[in-house]
Amino acid sequence: MTVISISSEVLDEVVATRRDLHAHPELAFEEVRTAGVVERRLAALGYEVRTGIAKTGVVGILRSGRPGRTVLLRADMDALPIEETNSLPFRSTVAGKMHACGHDTHVAILLGAARVLMERRAELAGTLVLCFQPAEEGKGGGREMVNAGVLGEPRVDAAFGLHISSNYPTGVIAWRPGPFFASSDSIEITIRGRGGHGASPHESIDPIFTAAQFITSVQQVVSRNVSPVEPAVVTIGSIHGGTTHNVIPDSVHLLGTVRAFSAEVREAMSERIERVLSAACRGTGAEYDYEYLWRYPVTVNDAKETALVAEVARDLFGEGRSIQGERTMGAEDFSFFLERVPGSYFLLGASSSPETSKPHHNASFAIDECALESGVQMMVALALEAPRRS
Ligand SMILES: [Zn+2]
Ligand SMILES: [Zn+2]
Repeated sequence: MTVISISSEVLDEVVATRRDLHAHPELAFEEVRTAGVVERRLAALGYEVRTGIAKTGVVGILRSGRPGRTVLLRADMDALPIEETNSLPFRSTVAGKMHACGHDTHVAILLGAARVLMERRAELAGTLVLCFQPAEEGKGGGREMVNAGVLGEPRVDAAFGLHISSNYPTGVIAWRPGPFFASSDSIEITIRGRGGHGASPHESIDPIFTAAQFITSVQQVVSRNVSPVEPAVVTIGSIHGGTTHNVIPDSVHLLGTVRAFSAEVREAMSERIERVLSAACRGTGAEYDYEYLWRYPVTVNDAKETALVAEVARDLFGEGRSIQGERTMGAEDFSFFLERVPGSYFLLGASSSPETSKPHHNASFAIDECALESGVQMMVALALEAPRRS
């Protein structure tokens, strides 16, 4: 087994950083204070620092001067618009904002790894790129970082990222080759009929009735068009139309989310959904506007890089703590990195009690801080090992 020992001084700093960030959450593309913390720490450690990438992104580069691959390690920095209900001493000090997905831990872990790696730089090969990105939660900060050239100079050969998880026990590393997280897209629909008296539907074109037809039929895309062995989801999450009992309104607005596990299924869903919508509207004489918003692609892990994650976790923590994770219909914008370079995204379990088993994005989300040490160890071990692989 490889031993990556993290001194209590480093560990205390990681916990303190995490708590400080937790108390000061910032939303997507507003991570100014967080980016400031990252920038100061990386600069003080001696990293070559780049700031202002995709607004608030920060990158720290460490060139070993020895041959080897360029490896990128990523942390996302943003919080969510949620009012925290925990009564922790370091609970959010900002009304309506909370680190309810654990991105505070990602930043703290990667900064802890940054410190250890600088101390152990004599052992490094290749080049390290530590990437702190904004706006993972729905705003595609990962896409913006990639578009800003974060994979280009120095040219990145492999990328790794972790997400803390309340679904796995503390310290367990869950990896998976191939598709791990789903794609996530949005649909926005307006069904336009012709308003009128509720007592005389024959003189109107009823958009509410049309919407109801569409909502029930659209599930046939998943059950009849997509292969039964391919996971896919269509959810209509919002429907608005009408004002009172006896008036047929002019229009109805629908919002929905679409998930898939392969680029082909994702592609096909967009067209199939519109076909069902078009048929429902044709049936009643309504018209429609349909927008399919391509958001996050499927997160596809490279087989070889994922085998490395599994091996490193096994080496550090033993067989029982390096496990294959279940696919999830959630989405991740690390997918934009993995579309361009091979790499692997994995989960770090942080659940040890009912309090630390709450779902992500819950107002009482909490993590077991004992997992932070394992996170630092994973990132350090990957940074030492991955540049040496071909
Ligand atoms: Zn999240
Ligand atoms: Zn997250």
